[in-house]
Amino acid sequence: MSETIFSKIIRREIPANIVYEDDLCLAFTDINPQAPTHILLIPKQLIKCIDTALDDDQTLLGHLLLTVKKVAANANLSNGYRIVINNGNDGGQTVDHLHLHILGDRQMQWPPG
Ligand code: 5GP
Repeated sequence: MSETIFSKIIRREIPANIVYEDDLCLAFTDINPQAPTHILLIPKQLIKCIDTALDDDQTLLGHLLLTVKKVAANANLSNGYRIVINNGNDGGQTVDHLHLHILGDRQMQWPPG
């Protein structure tokens, strides 16, 4: 599986504003924010997208979702926030390393674009 720019961020080869890290995942602010707070949460293990995740990734995927709570609390998103996972071309995914967008500090709209 090919690495992306996110692997370089994990290895600190390129800079990022890292806001959370543990053994399994890393969170950093998006370079092109779509909301006043826009954080990306990624697994350190390279999983391309939800479609390529395996049954063995169940614990890691659960960890990511539960970590969203910590990242959101650290960012003071006490009034709610949106979690987005773009999957594949039609989903609008542009970086082939699974990532959860955490968007907040503005009212979100529905349906998404
Ligand atoms: P996607 O479109 O794949 O769901 O989201 C990829 C996200 O990664 C985009 O929101 C984009 O702004 C962000 N991004 C792409 N390259 C970089 C980078 O080098 N640094 C940071 N912090 N974000 C990036």
